[in-house]
This record gives sequence, structure tokens and C-alpha cells, in this order.
Amino acid sequence: MTTACIVPAAGRGDRLGPGTPKALRRLAGEPILVHAVRSAVASGVVDLVAVAAPPSEVDDIRDLLKPHAPELVVVAGGPTRKASVAAALAEMPGAVDVVLVHDAARCLTPPELFAAVTNAVRRGADAAVPVLPVADTIKQVHGDEVLATLDRSDLYAVQTPQAFRRAVLDHAHATVDEDATDDAGLAERAGAAVHVIAGDDEAFKITRPLDLLLAEIVLSRRGTGA
Ligand code: C5P
Repeated sequence: MTTACIVPAAGRGDRLGPGTPKALRRLAGEPILVHAVRSAVASGVVDLVAVAAPPSEVDDIRDLLKPHAPELVVVAGGPTRKASVAAALAEMPGAVDVVLVHDAARCLTPPELFAAVTNAVRRGADAAVPVLPVADTIKQVHGDEVLATLDRSDLYAVQTPQAFRRAVLDHAHATVDEDATDDAGLAERAGAAVHVIAGDDEAFKITRPLDLLLAEIVLSRRGTGA
């Protein structure tokens, strides 16, 4: 039984403002990607880390991550998140039977969440994803008109890491042509049953400048044990 964690990290991070690719922006002195890989490995359930890097950064990222991952593969990412995950999936050794996919941008995810999604799949789920109930009321909008207000009690925000039986993720990527913003979305379209577990507030995605500020605060509180 071998568990791999694919880390798509090839995004530019335009919503964070101009600068280096998002995964290489610094948080408490270290690149976001280092924080992400460290928490995946600290979970104790990840045997192999496979990173999809910005194509110009593959060698530098391999050097950067070597001290942090016992087994490491770094590939050039693609033009979309889905293509980046597919590029890493293509390099999976045959022994891997559970694959986690974890956004580099969710770099403060507690190690326990990696173990929780992995255990759900090892206990028999096709796929398992962490979710949190949405706090805001969600409206469907077209142009500047509201079309509908959705029933919030049924809505959840999905996080990563997302865990899959390897065959389920391989099949989803091989058969679903449409793009998707997460891998569970592909697996659902390919017919898999996706199980949910409780997500974690600290698994938030660093997308906008305010998220970086929040991440700095979370890290400094962890540093003081608060
Ligand atoms: O753009 P978004 O925030 O949804 O990206 C989620 C994750 O997917 C990020 O970690 C980003 O680096 C990664 N990504 C990628 N390849 C792309 C676009 C995004 O690996 N072409």
C-alpha cells in the first residue's frame, strides 16, 4: 500500500498581485510550497510527493523540496490545474494505490486532514474530500441580475487534500474532457461516489493578499503555541 500526494503548484497566482509564482511566495520566510509539502509529509500517511511546478522552476523546486520529502517527483505543470494534476499523475509509480491531490495554496492544512481523507479511502470510499458549510448566502447571478438564491443548508465549500483510489482518479482524468476546479468534480462526472469529511478552517486557500496576511497570523500563533 503506497500513498502519493500530488501537489499542483504551477499557478501564477495573479489574484495575489504581481510577483513570483504563488507557490514560491514567502510566508514566515519560507515558500508557500515548502509549508504545504511539510504538512503533507508530517501526516505520516504520504510516501511520495509529486509536485507540478511552473515549467521554468522545475529544477529549482526539486532542489528546494529535497530536504522535505522522502520520495519526490517534480514535473512541469500545464496551462490549467487539471493539466498540472494529469502531468503528475502520469508519473505515478505502479505501487501507488491511493492518490491525494492537495493545492500548494492550502499550505497551512493540518497534517491530520491528510490522514483523515486517506483513512476514508483505505476504509472503502472511492474518494474523500474535506468540506465546510458555507457561511455566506450564495446567489446565482447573470450579468448584474440575481437569478436565484440557493438553499445554504445544502451547500459546502470543498477543500484539499482530496483522496482517491488510484484507479478512480486515473479513470476520471482519462475519461472526463471538461475542465474542473477540483479533482473530485472530475471523479463525480466519471461516476465515482465522493465521501465528505469535516474540513478545517486552517486549510483555507491563499488566493488574495488578505489570505497571506491571515496565513502569517496563523503561523505566528502556532509559533507561540497560542
Ligand atoms: O487557481 P487556483 O487557486 O484554483 O489554483 C489552485 C492550485 O492549483 C494552486 O496550488 C495552483 O498553483 C495550482 N495550479 C496549477 N497549474 C495551473 C493552475 C493552478 O498547478 N495551471
